[in-house]
Parts: sequence; structure tokens; C-alpha cells
Amino acid sequence: MAVSETHRIQTKDLDTPPRLLLGPGPSNAHPRVLRALSNRQVGHLDPTFIDLMNEVQELLRYAWQTDNKVAIPVSGTGSAAMEAAIANTVEPGDHVLVGCNGYFGERMVDMASRYGAQVHRMDKPWGESFDLAEIRTAMEAARPAVLGLIHAETSTGARQPLEGVAELCAEFDCLLIVDTVTSLGGVPLFIDEWGIDVAYSGTQKCLSCPPGIGPLTLGPRALDKLERRSTPVPNWYLDMSLVGKYWGSQRTYHHTAPINMNYGFREALRLVAEEGLEQRWDRHAANAQLFWDGLENMGLSCHVDASIRLPSLTTVRVPEGVDAGAVARHLLNTYNIEIAGGLGQLAGKVWRIGLMGFNSRPENVRLLLSALQETIQK
Ligand SMILES: *Cc1c(COP(=O)(O)O)cnc(C)c1O
Repeated sequence: MAVSETHRIQTKDLDTPPRLLLGPGPSNAHPRVLRALSNRQVGHLDPTFIDLMNEVQELLRYAWQTDNKVAIPVSGTGSAAMEAAIANTVEPGDHVLVGCNGYFGERMVDMASRYGAQVHRMDKPWGESFDLAEIRTAMEAARPAVLGLIHAETSTGARQPLEGVAELCAEFDCLLIVDTVTSLGGVPLFIDEWGIDVAYSGTQKCLSCPPGIGPLTLGPRALDKLERRSTPVPNWYLDMSLVGKYWGSQRTYHHTAPINMNYGFREALRLVAEEGLEQRWDRHAANAQLFWDGLENMGLSCHVDASIRLPSLTTVRVPEGVDAGAVARHLLNTYNIEIAGGLGQLAGKVWRIGLMGFNSRPENVRLLLSALQETIQK
């Protein structure tokens, strides 16, 4: 047999452009994280990697403000952690109530229905969030076993206030799952104090690590439900009763953890601990304010009310007569700045601009504002 030469293409050395990633994610990784990724490998059951696994879990508990036993990096992106959250807590036939005020609420609806839930929607226009009275009314109608909310809706830039939601959930004997992908490490978040049973996140938003890991935490009530399941978790890879043994004290082989990604993730979490959560949240808030003030000076407005506007992701209204896509393309081609357009209800109406983690710095805000000004005037 002769070896076919088809597909044997000639390629150049990889030379990526120096983009400033100010869209909805990924954001630029911190240089220290990129360096950590290139450390030499050890085996995934090597004693040094086991130490690293402990450090990662402990630093993740700090970032999330939780004492939960399970606070682990799922091997996969934020969506894998999202699927793990659903797969482990939803049993076929469970009533699941989901807050739908953006793209990621819709994704949660899709996932929960694939796991056999009877899904109830709670709808709100994109850019708004739910108040406690609205959540109560929806819970009275749905009587859910699980309530899913998106803390930071990256598609709209709206923050979902969470204080008081856990008390409602306790009243209805319901688990609370919260998507913290665009809030962890950038927006005030207290897993234990707010009584969140299950939360998940991603590494490439406010944690400034490349995509590839999905942090997940399960509180005692969620673990209890997992133990009492009448059917096995219908997803082998994401079954936390198996994965938990790998990350727990037993260290039983389940799958090979992405070693180098965990080096990077550890460094990202070290950076959070070094800076301090409050300082980090304040930095995100201050740079977002600088950005919003600059937008106002330019005559541009934000889509989301200031009271629930996320510091990590701003939706900026596209002025009348301006081609949103052309502006984004010009920013990329001329300035190497990536921003994104709107999705769903907001398609063509807003730009989505992220100031996340390492990227949340005054010099980036100033560069973006002047680039935006020049582009729109053109
Ligand atoms: C980015 C994002 C996700 C999905 O994460 P991936 O890493 O893209 O899989 C889920 N929820 C929200 C709110 C997000 O912003």
C-alpha cells in the first residue's frame, strides 16, 4: 500500500496576532498563567500533582468563598461544568425552574430537558433580572426540585441578585444552581453566605486562564441528593460520584486530568489570592466605571440599568445608523482589539465588551475608548 499524500499540507510556524481580547470571553490570560502552563509535566498521580490538586481545590474554595468539600476543576470548559451541575442534580421527571433572561438561561433549559427534567421557564427581557417576588411566583407555580439562575449573563451584561434566593429555595425544598462563569474572580460572590447549593464557572473569563477547565462546587444538600439518586448519573465522564473519588482523598483513577491546564489554573487562582477578592472586585468595578463614564462622554449608552450592570461585561447600545459588525471588524483589523456583537434579542443592537481579570486595567479602557471613538466617527 502506498501512503497517500493527500492532507499532508505544508504549514508555517504558528504566529498568532497580538489581540486584546475585550469580548465576552476568552479574555487574555495573565502572563504568569501562560508561563505556568509550560512547566514540565508530571504524571497525574505523581505526589507533586496530588499536592497541586489539593492547592487548586483550596484556592478555589477561597475564590468562591465556600467550605464545600467538592470544589474541583472539571476537565472541560464552562459548558462541561454546567452539564456536570445539571447531570448530577437532576433526575428524570424532576421539575426544574430556569431563569431565562439571556442566552445561557436558554442553554440551561436545553441541558435540563436532555436529562429528562420537566422544565419550567421564568422569562424576562434580555438585560433585566428577576426580583424575589417574581421568583416566588414562578416557584409557587412550578414547585421545582431545582432552580437554575445565571449570576452574570454574558449575553446581556445583567447581574442576577442572589441574596434571599436560598431562603426561598429552602421554603420550597429546592436546590439552587448558579452559573458563575462571568462572575467568579470579578464580581462579588459568596457561595456559602448566599446558600448556593451548586455553582460552576470557567477559567477564561475573570480568572484570566485559557479555556479548558470548568470549576464546579457541590454543597451538602446537592451531595445528599446525588447519594440518594435512584438512577445513576447518565453521563459517565461528568459523574461526580466517580470524579469526586479522583479529586477526593481516594485519588482513584477516573480520567487523566489535563495536567498543564491545572498548572495554569493554579497560577490563576494564586493571582486571585495574592490580590485579594475584595481588591479584585473593586478593581473590576473601578475600571468598569471608568469605561461607562467614557462611553457617556462619547454619547454612547449602556443597555443594562446601572443597578444590575456587570463590571465584567458591558452591553453598549449601537447608535442609529452605525453598522455594529463593521465597527467590530475595524477594531480587530486596525487595533487588534476583539469585541463582540449581540446575541438573540440583542443581535445588531449592542456590542458586548468584557473587562475581565487581567484585562480589567485603566490603560485598556482608555485604548478601547479612543479606538471606539475613532472607529465610530470614521
Ligand atoms: C462562557 C459562558 C459559559 C460557557 O462556558 P464555555 O467555557 O464557553 O463552555 C456558560 N455560562 C456563561 C454565563 C458564560 O459566559
